[in-house]
Amino acid sequence: MQVGVRLQPNQNLVLMAPATQVGAARAVSRAAYAAGARSVRTLFNDEVMERIHLSMAPADALGEFPKWLADGLLQEAEGNSAFLSIIGGDPENLKDVPAERIAASRRGAQQALQPFGRLQMAHRVAWSLVAAPTPGWARKVFPDLPDGEAVKQLWQAILRTSRADGPDPVGAWQRHIEQLQARRRWLNSLGIQSLRYKSPVTDLTIELPGTHQWVASGQQRAVGYPTSPNIPTEEVFTLPLRTGVDGKVRSTRSLSYSGQRIDGIEITFAQGRIVDFHADQGEDALRQVIETDEGSHYLGEVALVPVDSPIAQSGILFYNTLFDENASCHLAIGAAYPTCLTDGDEVRSDEDLLAKGGNASLVHMDFMIGSDDLDITARTSSGAETPIFRRGRWAAPIGG
Ligand code: ZN
Ligand code: ZN
Repeated sequence: MQVGVRLQPNQNLVLMAPATQVGAARAVSRAAYAAGARSVRTLFNDEVMERIHLSMAPADALGEFPKWLADGLLQEAEGNSAFLSIIGGDPENLKDVPAERIAASRRGAQQALQPFGRLQMAHRVAWSLVAAPTPGWARKVFPDLPDGEAVKQLWQAILRTSRADGPDPVGAWQRHIEQLQARRRWLNSLGIQSLRYKSPVTDLTIELPGTHQWVASGQQRAVGYPTSPNIPTEEVFTLPLRTGVDGKVRSTRSLSYSGQRIDGIEITFAQGRIVDFHADQGEDALRQVIETDEGSHYLGEVALVPVDSPIAQSGILFYNTLFDENASCHLAIGAAYPTCLTDGDEVRSDEDLLAKGGNASLVHMDFMIGSDDLDITARTSSGAETPIFRRGRWAAPIGG
């Protein structure tokens, strides 16, 4: 409440939670009222019901998203409610559902929720994601442990990587985001024109728009105060120039997207556009994402995370992007965050974002490309080359 959505006195909270997480939802609700909430409105969802719907509904119903729900969320956002989602579920919940049925449903939801999504991407609304383990998820992460023990271990891993396992979690979080902010200030001071990624499996150049800015958790938002949209978070990120990505990249960590697993992603870019792709596992799911719209053929996010982040050091593969993207440098296919532009508050439409060199899409899919043999070198506006990452870690101490 204090660091994530930073709930304001008398503010409404929209809480979204898995039906199996009633306990966590009740705890959040108590914390919200204790922090001065006016009203907590809770939406429970059930992943098994979702699977039943995606497996059994007629094909032409899959793209339909209830208008009352999309309108209701938009109304809450326009009424200045905060949004907190508790996530956690079986990372392969939808593995037996055909990829095109999942894609049809996702597209319908993304289209219906686009006005709400725009407010969210621009941080005109306070929102945050936190995690709570379900047995299905815990089983995937700790397959050798009995269910109860697996859930316990996953809780510990979540609290540890969220820096919430000590006596002063709020203080620990604030110290952490101050470090991310120091990195962000350093990157912004360099005037980076392009980044060159090099490892045995990756050789990629990414140009940045002239008005790009690096952002990180805990900074001032368009909503009027600082928030932490993701807990945990380790990233400092910006947006690429839409047409400025060239070369080849290979993913280094398993990805769970829309309940499907995607491994060994290889993508080739020419002038920003994806011209070739492959996945060792889940290529169908990857194709559905890339073929969503024109913008899903381009990148929207460039994020830096060192291999010595606590999540990477835990050695745990979470099969959950909230955690795994914070264990590794990553890129995202699809939409850019307007907040990654110094004049991002002028962005009111996809056309505005495109005109400023950013990318617009219904999709935003992060995939992990960091490793301990990845070097990233910046070319700055003065023509100098500055090492940013060496062997997967920050090349300079905090503060440059
Ligand atoms: Zn990211
Ligand atoms: Zn992202």
